Amino acid sequence: MEPPQESAAGDRKRRRRGGGRNRRKPSSSSQQAPPPAAAPPPLPSPPSKRRRKDGTGQAAATPKRGNTSSLLDKMRARLSGGHFRMLNEKLYTCSGQDAFDYFKNDPNLFDVYHTGYREQMSHWPEQPVNVIINWLKRHNASWTVADFGCGNAAVAKNVENKVFSIDLVSDDPSVIACDMAHTPLDPSSVDVAIFCLSLMGTNYPSYLEEANRVLKPSGWLVIAEVRSRLDPNNGGADPEKFSKAIIQLGFSLVSKDEKNKMFILFYFKKKEKSKVAKSIDWPQLKPCLYKRR
Ligand code: SAH
Repeated sequence: MEPPQESAAGDRKRRRRGGGRNRRKPSSSSQQAPPPAAAPPPLPSPPSKRRRKDGTGQAAATPKRGNTSSLLDKMRARLSGGHFRMLNEKLYTCSGQDAFDYFKNDPNLFDVYHTGYREQMSHWPEQPVNVIINWLKRHNASWTVADFGCGNAAVAKNVENKVFSIDLVSDDPSVIACDMAHTPLDPSSVDVAIFCLSLMGTNYPSYLEEANRVLKPSGWLVIAEVRSRLDPNNGGADPEKFSKAIIQLGFSLVSKDEKNKMFILFYFKKKEKSKVAKSIDWPQLKPCLYKRR
């Protein structure tokens, strides 16, 4: 799969322009039926579809119903793909509070978003959430974990640790529904804070400040982000500047895993005696817009 591309917005504009042309009133000459010679010859159906199941080889009746429903399925998939991309763009271009209010008004949109998200992720060679799950499994099962922007709570479902799963909407009693800039977790109460592709809002630094509040001294901050958002050659933020800002929040960068094609992983540790710098120069993280498939 190709990386998510910002060109999706350009594609959309071009399609919209094309759509405008298509909507224009036909001129009087184009209203006439085209001459019969212009009609393309009908395509032969693939032989397999023309055979009866009984193997007689006689032509079967046209499976009209099947064709109609597969066309409808395609149209539905296209519509929900478009809806997913709209919601995705919304999440990357508004604050966490606005996103929370938006989904609160219509929680079904959350399912639309996650159906599209899963579809997009199915094309990634490796799922960042699995890398994080495996990392947790190799460490301490007694650590308490906070999964910020948990999605379908894959972390909680796959590790022995106690996990606070946090997201904008909860369709599961174990998930805390809130804007993750303000969680109900106690200060210095968790050993690991995870952000797996969830630094979406325009106020993303406030999510990291919240993680800093709830993390114990020496706690881990694990961040997976889409590679293109941290690629300065492509309009993304400078990963060094991103790390530096988190270091100024009171962390040390323990390691960075850049071997995956689609995402970068950062492992930070909160300093024993951490101190937040007076002013932190947070880089802007550009939205990750997914390609139309
Ligand atoms: N971490 C999951 C899901 C990633 S999708 C995984 O890797 O599978 C990003 C998730 O972050 C979405 O579920 C979205 O709803 C959530 N999210 C984005 N902004 C949020 C906010 N301000 N508060 C809580 N959750 C948020």
